[in-house]
Amino acid sequence: MTFPPLREELRGIEPYGAPQLPLDRVPVQLNVNENPYPPSPAVVADVATAVAHAASSLNRYPDREFVELRAALAAYLSGDSGGVPVAPEQVWAANGSNEVMLQLLQAFGGPGRTAVSFAPTYSMYPEYARDSNTRWVAGRRESDFSLDLDAARALVEAERPSVVLLPSPNNPTGTALPPEAVTTLCAAVGDDGVVVVDEAYGEFRREGVPSALELLPAHRNLVVTRTMSKAFAGAGLRLGYLAADPAICDAIRVVRLPYHLSAVTQAAALAALRHAPGLLGRVADLRAERDLTVTWLREQGLEVADSDANFVLFGRFADRHAVWEDLVDRGVLIRETGPEGWLRVSVGTADEMTSFKEALTGAMKENP
Ligand SMILES: *Cc1c(COP(=O)(O)O)cnc(C)c1O
Repeated sequence: MTFPPLREELRGIEPYGAPQLPLDRVPVQLNVNENPYPPSPAVVADVATAVAHAASSLNRYPDREFVELRAALAAYLSGDSGGVPVAPEQVWAANGSNEVMLQLLQAFGGPGRTAVSFAPTYSMYPEYARDSNTRWVAGRRESDFSLDLDAARALVEAERPSVVLLPSPNNPTGTALPPEAVTTLCAAVGDDGVVVVDEAYGEFRREGVPSALELLPAHRNLVVTRTMSKAFAGAGLRLGYLAADPAICDAIRVVRLPYHLSAVTQAAALAALRHAPGLLGRVADLRAERDLTVTWLREQGLEVADSDANFVLFGRFADRHAVWEDLVDRGVLIRETGPEGWLRVSVGTADEMTSFKEALTGAMKENP
């Protein structure tokens, strides 16, 4: 027996994670789709006050059902759902939407069950499938990263998944799915499974692109996940959530750890939500900067995926690692991810994007 006695299938596996390089070495960090704008002094003050208040009763366990936070999240979602009201009992939250995703697989996946997604897709999903002993099946997206609905339906009918994972806008491509994709797959899965539309980047979608929240009343097997990590500028907060049929929220309560959302997290998230308009105020700037970045990259003769998110996938490079490394040497950190030959850049401030463009121009001269 080798020590430590790790599960056979986990031996030799590297823990997931984008490289975290020190800011003094690589000052422009555009690699993990963070919002580049820190919270305003007013938000910082309100969060600090709320956390201080929570600290006065840290000897007690927090509200296990986080009732106040669920109500605040429901109120926020009701304003971004095309007029469809979202009730507190339809909302569930955890420490980042990554934890929400793991809980969904713990509740609805498991031995003898299958999870389906369509590649390229979010790289964490297969890990949660593995960790929950769920069989993992990845279909393919088209060359423009859209979904062929007939092929997707056929795959679902053949594999009978209990969980379908659809990031929209997709990471790493930025592609949003049309509502027909969601309704088609909800119908194909039926009551034997749940369809999870991961809208981590939902707030960045372009004008006229609807949220899957609008489809909730028609599909009780639909789950829409969101996060405070991206548009809300709260990656450090660790707060993700979902909206779904109350029966789905109830089912997740069986697998969650007791008191999984700390009193500090709940207080900070509630304070941040009180400032939702302010925190989301930069989303318009970031969308505009994204569209400028797409245009500029195309002007350089590159292939660029249409993006409804706060990042852009572009290529293709004969040696993308060389380009990525050259950018690091020029002080700009982006992400080596996506299909072979492509790179992904997160949308930063206008100044950061200027640095990125200068660095990429140099890197492309060195790596023609
Ligand atoms: C960033 C991201 C998330 C959010 O993760 P958190 O755990 O909420 O920080 C979820 N899904 C996708 C596809 C992402 O890219």
